[in-house]
Amino acid sequence: MPDAAVELIAVGTELLLGQLVDTNTVFIEQSLAEAGIDVRATHVVGDNRERIAAAIRGALERAEGAITTGGLGPTIDDLTKEAVCDALGLSVELYEPALRQMEEFFATVGRPMRPNNRKQAELPRGSLPLPNPNGTAPGFVAFAKDGRFVASMPGVPREMKPMLAERLVPFLRERFAVKSRIYTRVIHTINLGESEIDYRIADLFAASANPKIAVLSHDFRVDVKLTAKSDSSADADAMIAPLQIELERRLMGYVFGTDETTPAGAIHALLQARGLRIGLAESFTGGRLAAQLTSVPGSSTAFVGAVVAYANSVKIEQLGVRPETIEREGAVSQAAAQEMALGARLRLGADLALATTGIAGPEGGTPHKPIGSCWFALEDRDGVAGTWRFELRGDRAAITRRATTIGLGIIWRYLEGQR
Ligand code: ATP
Repeated sequence: MPDAAVELIAVGTELLLGQLVDTNTVFIEQSLAEAGIDVRATHVVGDNRERIAAAIRGALERAEGAITTGGLGPTIDDLTKEAVCDALGLSVELYEPALRQMEEFFATVGRPMRPNNRKQAELPRGSLPLPNPNGTAPGFVAFAKDGRFVASMPGVPREMKPMLAERLVPFLRERFAVKSRIYTRVIHTINLGESEIDYRIADLFAASANPKIAVLSHDFRVDVKLTAKSDSSADADAMIAPLQIELERRLMGYVFGTDETTPAGAIHALLQARGLRIGLAESFTGGRLAAQLTSVPGSSTAFVGAVVAYANSVKIEQLGVRPETIEREGAVSQAAAQEMALGARLRLGADLALATTGIAGPEGGTPHKPIGSCWFALEDRDGVAGTWRFELRGDRAAITRRATTIGLGIIWRYLEGQR
Protein backbone atom coordinates (compact mmCIF):
# COMPACT_ATOMS: atom_id res chain seq x y z
CA MET A 1 0.00 0.00 0.00
CA PRO A 2 1.49 3.37 -0.97
CA ASP A 3 2.14 6.06 1.66
CA ALA A 4 -0.42 8.74 2.53
CA ALA A 5 1.89 11.28 0.94
CA VAL A 6 2.67 12.89 -2.39
CA GLU A 7 5.62 13.12 -4.73
CA LEU A 8 6.26 16.24 -6.81
CA ILE A 9 7.16 16.23 -10.49
CA ALA A 10 8.32 19.44 -12.18
CA VAL A 11 8.00 19.16 -15.95
CA GLY A 12 10.17 21.15 -18.34
CA THR A 13 13.27 20.59 -20.43
CA GLU A 14 14.44 24.12 -19.48
CA LEU A 15 14.65 22.91 -15.87
CA LEU A 16 16.96 20.04 -16.88
CA LEU A 17 19.21 22.34 -18.89
CA GLY A 18 19.68 24.72 -16.01
CA GLN A 19 18.00 27.52 -17.95
CA LEU A 20 15.19 27.85 -15.44
CA VAL A 21 15.37 27.50 -11.67
CA ASP A 22 12.70 25.19 -10.29
CA THR A 23 11.10 27.55 -7.78
CA ASN A 24 7.72 25.81 -8.06
CA THR A 25 8.92 22.72 -6.22
CA VAL A 26 10.30 24.74 -3.30
CA PHE A 27 7.10 26.73 -3.08
CA ILE A 28 4.90 23.63 -3.12
CA GLU A 29 7.10 21.90 -0.52
CA GLN A 30 6.75 24.89 1.82
CA SER A 31 3.00 25.17 1.31
CA LEU A 32 2.41 21.46 1.87
CA ALA A 33 4.66 21.36 4.95
CA GLU A 34 2.59 24.17 6.45
CA ALA A 35 -0.59 22.35 5.54
CA GLY A 36 0.61 19.14 7.23
CA ILE A 37 0.87 17.10 4.00
CA ASP A 38 3.92 14.87 3.55
CA VAL A 39 6.09 15.16 0.46
CA ARG A 40 8.14 11.99 -0.01
CA ALA A 41 10.25 12.83 -3.06
CA THR A 42 10.64 15.39 -5.82
CA HIS A 43 11.56 14.87 -9.46
CA VAL A 44 12.33 16.91 -12.56
CA VAL A 45 11.58 15.54 -16.05
CA GLY A 46 11.86 17.01 -19.53
CA ASP A 47 9.02 17.60 -21.99
CA ASN A 48 8.80 13.96 -23.03
CA ARG A 49 5.51 12.10 -22.88
CA GLU A 50 6.95 8.65 -22.04
CA ARG A 51 9.26 9.95 -19.35
CA ILE A 52 6.57 12.09 -17.71
CA ALA A 53 4.25 9.05 -17.67
CA ALA A 54 7.04 6.87 -16.24
CA ALA A 55 7.73 9.42 -13.50
CA ILE A 56 4.02 9.45 -12.59
CA ARG A 57 3.81 5.64 -12.51
CA GLY A 58 6.91 5.48 -10.34
CA ALA A 59 5.59 8.10 -7.93
CA LEU A 60 2.26 6.28 -7.58
CA GLU A 61 3.99 3.04 -6.64
CA ARG A 62 5.34 4.76 -3.53
CA ALA A 63 2.84 7.50 -2.72
CA GLU A 64 -0.93 7.91 -3.03
CA GLY A 65 -0.59 11.08 -5.05
CA ALA A 66 1.64 12.87 -7.53
CA ILE A 67 1.61 16.60 -8.20
CA THR A 68 2.93 17.91 -11.50
CA THR A 69 3.61 21.48 -12.59
CA GLY A 70 4.27 22.66 -16.13
CA GLY A 71 3.48 21.34 -19.57
CA LEU A 72 -0.23 22.18 -19.60
CA GLY A 73 -0.01 24.90 -22.21
CA PRO A 74 -1.34 24.81 -25.79
CA THR A 75 1.95 24.14 -27.58
CA ILE A 76 3.33 20.95 -29.07
CA ASP A 77 5.79 20.40 -26.23
CA ASP A 78 3.09 20.64 -23.55
CA LEU A 79 2.50 16.95 -22.91
CA THR A 80 1.66 16.56 -19.24
CA LYS A 81 -2.04 15.89 -19.72
CA GLU A 82 -1.40 13.18 -22.30
CA ALA A 83 1.20 11.62 -20.00
CA VAL A 84 -1.25 11.60 -17.08
CA CYS A 85 -3.81 9.84 -19.29
CA ASP A 86 -1.18 7.28 -20.35
CA ALA A 87 -0.12 6.63 -16.76
CA LEU A 88 -3.67 6.22 -15.44
CA GLY A 89 -5.22 4.59 -18.54
CA LEU A 90 -7.69 7.42 -19.14
CA SER A 91 -8.98 9.28 -22.19
CA VAL A 92 -9.81 13.00 -22.31
CA GLU A 93 -13.19 14.71 -22.28
CA LEU A 94 -14.13 18.31 -22.93
CA TYR A 95 -14.61 20.42 -19.83
CA GLU A 96 -17.27 22.95 -20.84
CA PRO A 97 -16.68 25.69 -18.22
CA ALA A 98 -13.01 25.90 -19.23
CA LEU A 99 -13.99 26.16 -22.90
CA ARG A 100 -16.42 28.98 -22.12
CA GLN A 101 -13.83 30.80 -20.00
CA MET A 102 -11.37 30.52 -22.86
CA GLU A 103 -13.88 31.79 -25.45
CA GLU A 104 -14.60 34.78 -23.24
CA PHE A 105 -10.89 35.40 -22.73
CA PHE A 106 -10.16 35.40 -26.47
CA ALA A 107 -13.22 37.58 -27.20
CA THR A 108 -12.00 40.12 -24.61
CA VAL A 109 -8.48 40.32 -26.00
CA GLY A 110 -9.80 40.28 -29.58
CA ARG A 111 -7.71 37.33 -30.77
CA PRO A 112 -8.98 34.23 -32.60
CA MET A 113 -9.13 31.02 -30.59
CA ARG A 114 -7.14 28.22 -32.25
CA PRO A 115 -7.85 24.47 -32.07
CA ASN A 116 -4.80 24.00 -29.85
CA ASN A 117 -6.40 26.32 -27.28
CA ARG A 118 -9.50 24.13 -27.37
CA LYS A 119 -7.25 21.24 -26.44
CA GLN A 120 -6.53 23.01 -23.16
CA ALA A 121 -10.19 22.68 -22.19
CA GLU A 122 -9.96 18.89 -22.35
CA LEU A 123 -9.26 17.09 -19.11
CA PRO A 124 -8.64 13.44 -18.24
CA ARG A 125 -12.02 11.71 -17.92
CA GLY A 126 -13.54 11.96 -14.44
CA SER A 127 -11.12 14.63 -13.26
CA LEU A 128 -11.76 17.20 -10.62
CA PRO A 129 -11.05 20.50 -12.44
CA LEU A 130 -8.92 23.16 -10.74
CA PRO A 131 -10.08 26.47 -12.27
CA ASN A 132 -7.38 28.91 -13.34
CA PRO A 133 -8.58 32.53 -13.06
CA ASN A 134 -5.11 33.81 -13.98
CA GLY A 135 -4.59 31.94 -17.25
CA THR A 136 -6.19 29.78 -19.90
CA ALA A 137 -5.16 26.24 -18.89
CA PRO A 138 -7.18 24.76 -16.03
CA GLY A 139 -5.47 22.38 -13.67
CA PHE A 140 -7.04 19.09 -12.61
CA VAL A 141 -6.88 16.13 -10.29
CA ALA A 142 -7.13 12.88 -12.25
CA PHE A 143 -7.90 9.58 -10.52
CA ALA A 144 -6.78 6.02 -11.01
CA LYS A 145 -9.36 3.27 -10.44
CA ASP A 146 -7.98 2.54 -6.96
CA GLY A 147 -8.23 6.20 -5.88
CA ARG A 148 -4.59 7.18 -6.34
CA PHE A 149 -4.40 10.55 -7.98
CA VAL A 150 -2.35 12.93 -10.07
CA ALA A 151 -2.83 16.68 -9.57
CA SER A 152 -1.56 18.78 -12.47
CA MET A 153 -1.07 22.53 -12.36
CA PRO A 154 0.35 25.02 -14.88
CA GLY A 155 4.03 25.90 -14.65
CA VAL A 156 3.60 29.67 -14.55
CA PRO A 157 4.06 30.53 -10.84
CA ARG A 158 1.47 33.32 -10.95
CA GLU A 159 -1.13 30.77 -12.07
CA MET A 160 0.10 27.85 -9.98
CA LYS A 161 0.31 29.54 -6.57
CA PRO A 162 -3.34 30.61 -6.15
CA MET A 163 -4.52 27.31 -7.63
CA LEU A 164 -2.45 25.46 -5.03
CA ALA A 165 -3.62 27.57 -2.09
CA GLU A 166 -7.28 27.87 -3.02
CA ARG A 167 -8.00 24.52 -4.65
CA LEU A 168 -5.37 21.85 -4.28
CA VAL A 169 -4.37 22.25 -0.62
CA PRO A 170 -8.00 22.03 0.59
CA PHE A 171 -8.47 18.95 -1.60
CA LEU A 172 -5.32 17.30 -0.21
CA ARG A 173 -6.17 18.08 3.42
CA GLU A 174 -9.54 16.44 2.97
CA ARG A 175 -8.14 13.53 1.00
CA PHE A 176 -5.53 12.74 3.68
CA ALA A 177 -7.87 13.71 6.57
CA VAL A 178 -5.24 16.11 7.90
CA LYS A 179 -6.38 17.93 11.01
CA SER A 180 -3.30 19.68 12.25
CA ARG A 181 -1.12 22.09 10.34
CA ILE A 182 2.19 23.82 10.89
CA TYR A 183 2.27 27.31 12.39
CA THR A 184 5.49 29.29 12.47
CA ARG A 185 6.89 32.27 14.32
CA VAL A 186 10.23 33.73 13.31
CA ILE A 187 12.28 35.73 15.80
CA HIS A 188 14.77 37.95 13.94
CA THR A 189 18.09 38.86 15.53
CA ILE A 190 20.86 41.11 14.28
CA ASN A 191 24.59 41.43 15.06
CA LEU A 192 24.74 38.37 17.26
CA GLY A 193 26.66 35.36 15.91
CA GLU A 194 25.07 31.98 15.31
CA SER A 195 27.36 30.20 17.77
CA GLU A 196 26.55 32.73 20.51
CA ILE A 197 22.84 32.23 19.89
CA ASP A 198 23.31 28.51 19.91
CA TYR A 199 25.14 28.74 23.24
CA ARG A 200 22.40 30.84 24.79
CA ILE A 201 19.49 28.64 23.71
CA ALA A 202 21.03 25.16 23.43
CA ASP A 203 19.01 23.68 26.32
CA LEU A 204 15.68 24.94 24.91
CA PHE A 205 16.68 23.70 21.49
CA ALA A 206 17.31 20.19 22.82
CA ALA A 207 14.21 20.06 25.04
CA SER A 208 11.58 21.37 22.65
CA ALA A 209 9.94 18.98 20.19
CA ASN A 210 6.64 20.79 19.54
CA PRO A 211 7.18 23.69 18.97
CA LYS A 212 10.44 22.82 17.25
CA ILE A 213 13.26 25.38 17.22
CA ALA A 214 15.48 25.97 14.18
CA VAL A 215 18.33 28.46 13.88
CA LEU A 216 18.81 29.91 10.39
CA SER A 217 21.68 32.24 9.67
CA HIS A 218 22.15 34.72 6.84
CA ASP A 219 25.19 37.07 6.89
CA PHE A 220 25.14 38.37 10.48
CA ARG A 221 21.41 38.06 10.74
CA VAL A 222 20.17 34.99 12.52
CA ASP A 223 16.57 33.89 12.65
CA VAL A 224 15.21 31.61 15.31
CA LYS A 225 12.21 29.83 13.88
CA LEU A 226 9.54 28.16 15.99
CA THR A 227 7.24 25.67 14.31
CA ALA A 228 4.25 24.24 16.10
CA LYS A 229 2.06 21.43 14.83
CA SER A 230 -1.46 22.08 16.00
CA ASP A 231 -5.17 21.87 15.14
CA SER A 232 -5.86 25.60 15.45
CA SER A 233 -3.98 28.86 15.37
CA ALA A 234 -5.14 29.67 18.92
CA ASP A 235 -3.59 26.43 20.21
CA ALA A 236 -0.43 27.10 18.23
CA ASP A 237 -0.18 30.59 19.72
CA ALA A 238 -0.56 29.17 23.20
CA MET A 239 2.20 26.65 22.53
CA ILE A 240 4.55 29.19 20.96
CA ALA A 241 4.07 32.16 23.31
CA PRO A 242 5.95 30.94 26.45
CA LEU A 243 8.88 29.67 24.41
CA GLN A 244 9.01 32.90 22.41
CA ILE A 245 9.10 34.98 25.60
CA GLU A 246 11.96 32.88 26.99
CA LEU A 247 13.93 33.05 23.74
CA GLU A 248 13.47 36.80 23.47
CA ARG A 249 14.65 37.18 27.08
CA ARG A 250 17.84 35.26 26.35
CA LEU A 251 18.50 37.20 23.14
CA MET A 252 17.49 40.55 24.57
CA GLY A 253 18.99 43.58 22.84
CA TYR A 254 19.39 41.71 19.55
CA VAL A 255 15.77 40.86 18.59
CA PHE A 256 14.55 43.48 16.14
CA GLY A 257 11.21 41.88 15.35
CA THR A 258 9.22 38.84 14.36
CA ASP A 259 7.81 37.29 11.18
CA GLU A 260 7.59 39.89 8.39
CA THR A 261 9.63 42.61 10.14
CA THR A 262 12.83 43.66 8.35
CA PRO A 263 15.80 45.47 9.93
CA ALA A 264 15.02 48.58 7.87
CA GLY A 265 11.35 48.38 8.88
CA ALA A 266 12.26 48.12 12.57
CA ILE A 267 14.65 51.09 12.24
CA HIS A 268 12.01 53.15 10.46
CA ALA A 269 9.46 52.47 13.22
CA LEU A 270 11.92 53.51 15.94
CA LEU A 271 12.99 56.67 14.08
CA GLN A 272 9.37 57.64 13.62
CA ALA A 273 8.46 56.93 17.22
CA ARG A 274 11.31 59.14 18.39
CA GLY A 275 10.82 61.83 15.73
CA LEU A 276 14.41 61.43 14.47
CA ARG A 277 15.83 61.72 10.96
CA ILE A 278 18.90 59.82 9.81
CA GLY A 279 21.58 60.44 7.18
CA LEU A 280 24.41 58.26 5.88
CA ALA A 281 27.99 58.60 4.67
CA GLU A 282 28.78 55.43 2.78
CA SER A 283 32.14 54.49 1.39
CA PHE A 284 32.61 50.75 0.80
CA THR A 285 28.92 49.92 1.26
CA GLY A 286 28.30 52.04 -1.86
CA GLY A 287 24.73 53.08 -1.10
CA ARG A 288 23.54 49.66 0.02
CA LEU A 289 22.48 50.99 3.41
CA ALA A 290 20.56 53.81 1.75
CA ALA A 291 18.87 51.26 -0.52
CA GLN A 292 17.81 49.27 2.54
CA LEU A 293 16.49 52.26 4.46
CA THR A 294 14.52 53.52 1.46
CA SER A 295 12.97 50.09 0.84
CA VAL A 296 10.45 50.89 3.58
CA PRO A 297 7.28 52.68 2.43
CA GLY A 298 7.13 56.18 3.92
CA SER A 299 10.88 56.26 4.56
CA SER A 300 11.09 59.92 3.51
CA THR A 301 9.76 60.93 6.91
CA ALA A 302 12.80 59.46 8.68
CA PHE A 303 15.58 59.13 6.10
CA VAL A 304 17.21 62.36 4.88
CA GLY A 305 19.77 61.08 2.40
CA ALA A 306 23.21 59.63 1.88
CA VAL A 307 26.54 60.71 0.49
CA VAL A 308 28.26 57.84 -1.29
CA ALA A 309 31.78 59.07 -0.58
CA TYR A 310 34.00 56.65 -2.43
CA ALA A 311 36.93 58.82 -3.54
CA ASN A 312 38.93 60.65 -0.90
CA SER A 313 38.12 63.90 -2.67
CA VAL A 314 34.41 63.31 -2.03
CA LYS A 315 35.07 62.51 1.62
CA ILE A 316 36.98 65.78 1.88
CA GLU A 317 34.82 68.07 -0.25
CA GLN A 318 31.33 66.75 0.43
CA LEU A 319 31.74 65.63 4.01
CA GLY A 320 34.48 67.88 5.34
CA VAL A 321 36.91 65.10 6.26
CA ARG A 322 40.30 66.73 6.91
CA PRO A 323 42.99 65.83 4.34
CA GLU A 324 45.49 65.40 7.23
CA THR A 325 43.23 62.71 8.75
CA ILE A 326 43.32 60.71 5.54
CA GLU A 327 47.08 61.28 5.11
CA ARG A 328 47.93 60.34 8.67
CA GLU A 329 45.41 57.58 9.43
CA GLY A 330 44.16 56.48 6.03
CA ALA A 331 40.63 56.58 4.62
CA VAL A 332 39.83 53.34 6.44
CA SER A 333 40.33 54.52 9.98
CA GLN A 334 38.42 55.40 13.08
CA ALA A 335 39.14 59.10 12.66
CA ALA A 336 38.01 59.17 9.03
CA ALA A 337 34.79 57.33 9.90
CA GLN A 338 34.05 59.79 12.71
CA GLU A 339 34.63 62.82 10.51
CA MET A 340 32.48 61.30 7.76
CA ALA A 341 29.63 60.75 10.23
CA LEU A 342 29.90 64.25 11.61
CA GLY A 343 30.00 65.74 8.11
CA ALA A 344 26.95 63.72 7.02
CA ARG A 345 24.96 64.71 10.08
CA LEU A 346 25.68 68.42 9.71
CA ARG A 347 25.59 68.73 5.93
CA LEU A 348 22.50 66.58 5.49
CA GLY A 349 20.75 68.21 8.43
CA ALA A 350 20.06 64.92 10.19
CA ASP A 351 19.70 64.10 13.89
CA LEU A 352 21.78 61.00 13.47
CA ALA A 353 24.32 59.80 10.91
CA LEU A 354 26.15 56.54 10.29
CA ALA A 355 29.41 56.38 8.32
CA THR A 356 31.01 53.29 6.77
CA THR A 357 34.54 52.96 5.45
CA GLY A 358 36.37 49.73 4.63
CA ILE A 359 38.32 47.58 2.21
CA ALA A 360 35.98 45.34 0.19
CA GLY A 361 38.78 43.76 -1.88
CA PRO A 362 39.96 41.87 -3.78
CA GLU A 363 42.74 44.49 -3.93
CA GLY A 364 43.82 47.13 -1.45
CA GLY A 365 44.55 45.00 1.62
CA THR A 366 47.77 45.41 3.63
CA PRO A 367 49.13 43.32 6.52
CA HIS A 368 48.04 46.09 8.85
CA LYS A 369 44.64 46.57 7.22
CA PRO A 370 43.65 43.32 5.52
CA ILE A 371 40.75 42.99 3.09
CA GLY A 372 37.54 43.15 5.09
CA SER A 373 38.87 45.74 7.58
CA CYS A 374 36.26 48.37 8.20
CA TRP A 375 35.13 51.12 10.51
CA PHE A 376 31.66 52.35 11.35
CA ALA A 377 30.94 55.58 13.22
CA LEU A 378 27.65 56.88 14.54
CA GLU A 379 27.15 60.52 15.31
CA ASP A 380 24.17 62.10 17.08
CA ARG A 381 23.42 65.58 18.37
CA ASP A 382 25.60 64.92 21.44
CA GLY A 383 28.65 63.96 19.38
CA VAL A 384 30.12 60.56 18.65
CA ALA A 385 27.69 57.88 19.77
CA GLY A 386 30.10 55.07 18.96
CA THR A 387 32.70 53.63 16.62
CA TRP A 388 33.15 50.00 15.66
CA ARG A 389 35.89 48.09 13.89
CA PHE A 390 35.42 44.74 12.13
CA GLU A 391 37.48 42.40 10.02
CA LEU A 392 34.97 40.75 7.74
CA ARG A 393 35.66 37.59 5.82
CA GLY A 394 34.49 36.55 2.38
CA ASP A 395 34.67 37.92 -1.14
CA ARG A 396 33.76 41.45 -2.17
CA ALA A 397 30.05 40.71 -2.39
CA ALA A 398 29.93 38.95 0.98
CA ILE A 399 31.92 41.70 2.70
CA THR A 400 29.65 44.48 1.47
CA ARG A 401 26.53 42.44 2.27
CA ARG A 402 27.73 41.74 5.80
CA ALA A 403 28.79 45.34 6.30
CA THR A 404 25.31 46.48 5.30
CA THR A 405 23.75 44.18 7.87
CA ILE A 406 26.20 45.36 10.53
CA GLY A 407 25.36 48.99 9.72
CA LEU A 408 21.65 48.28 10.08
CA GLY A 409 22.36 46.47 13.35
CA ILE A 410 24.33 49.42 14.73
CA ILE A 411 21.55 51.87 13.90
CA TRP A 412 18.86 49.60 15.31
CA ARG A 413 20.75 48.85 18.54
CA TYR A 414 21.43 52.55 19.08
CA LEU A 415 17.74 53.46 18.65
CA GLU A 416 16.57 50.50 20.72
CA GLY A 417 18.97 51.49 23.51
CA GLN A 418 17.55 55.03 23.50
CA ARG A 419 14.03 53.90 24.30
P1 ATP B 1 0.68 27.70 -19.41
O1 ATP B 1 -0.47 26.79 -19.50
O2 ATP B 1 0.31 28.99 -18.74
O3 ATP B 1 1.38 27.90 -20.73
P2 ATP B 1 2.42 25.56 -18.72
O4 ATP B 1 1.84 24.58 -17.78
O5 ATP B 1 2.47 25.23 -20.15
O6 ATP B 1 1.74 26.98 -18.45
P3 ATP B 1 5.23 25.61 -19.03
O7 ATP B 1 5.03 25.91 -20.46
O8 ATP B 1 5.80 24.32 -18.63
O9 ATP B 1 3.88 25.84 -18.22
O10 ATP B 1 6.06 26.78 -18.36
C1 ATP B 1 5.69 28.11 -18.60
C2 ATP B 1 6.59 29.01 -17.81
O11 ATP B 1 6.33 28.84 -16.41
C3 ATP B 1 8.08 28.74 -17.92
O12 ATP B 1 8.66 29.34 -19.03
C4 ATP B 1 8.58 29.30 -16.64
O13 ATP B 1 8.71 30.70 -16.73
C5 ATP B 1 7.50 28.97 -15.65
N1 ATP B 1 7.79 27.68 -14.99
C6 ATP B 1 7.49 26.45 -15.41
N2 ATP B 1 7.88 25.51 -14.54
C7 ATP B 1 8.47 26.17 -13.53
C8 ATP B 1 9.10 25.76 -12.31
N3 ATP B 1 9.18 24.46 -11.98
N4 ATP B 1 9.59 26.71 -11.50
C9 ATP B 1 9.50 28.00 -11.84
N5 ATP B 1 8.92 28.47 -12.96
C10 ATP B 1 8.41 27.56 -13.81
